[in-house]
Amino acid sequence: MDRIMELPCMMKTLASGEEFFRVETIKLKYGNTNSFFIPGGLLVDTGYAGTLTAFYKALKANGLRLERITHVLATHYHPDHCGLIGELQQHGASLILPESQKGSVHDPDHIFARDGLRYIPVDESKAERISFEESRAYLMTLGIAGEIISTPSHSADSVSLILDNGDCIVGDLQPREFLDGYESNKALRTDWERIMNCHPKRILYAHMPEMRIKR
Ligand SMILES: [Zn+2]
Repeated sequence: MDRIMELPCMMKTLASGEEFFRVETIKLKYGNTNSFFIPGGLLVDTGYAGTLTAFYKALKANGLRLERITHVLATHYHPDHCGLIGELQQHGASLILPESQKGSVHDPDHIFARDGLRYIPVDESKAERISFEESRAYLMTLGIAGEIISTPSHSADSVSLILDNGDCIVGDLQPREFLDGYESNKALRTDWERIMNCHPKRILYAHMPEMRIKR
């Protein structure tokens, strides 16, 4: 048996550069936003419109091929999180659209048009619409253990992806430490209570370094 096959839970890179049995979340940074690839085929967040070439370079640098991205999810529809989704749909990726994001996918269109950027609008008609409740079962069909939860303190359509391995991708959610700076911020507090109930080990932000949860 190939030695790589004996070590399924360790990161191994084949001579071709394609990763194999790599189970951890892969950060792709090619602009101002961190995108995350979850083995199983899911990309969470994309950069701004016009970042496709940089995105391809980031994929290559991480030993990934575009075909590996079978699904895409935006933590929310601010322009720096969803600029490439239309292009990825054209390449065959399915858009996962949690219930709170219905009707939000075109929010950034006018900003990209204003900036004169190459942009393919999201095709909402082809999206995989799911409820939060069914997100775990849906992700399981991709071989991903985890769920999508609503964390609307940053924007009504904001979601977080929490994986059973402890990684939690929160997009633009404000850090939990910020709660100390507010007299009251019920929405942020509720979001963090929801997240902490899932016992995350690592918080992955879109614009900040990751944070390990100390227990
Ligand atoms: Zn945002």
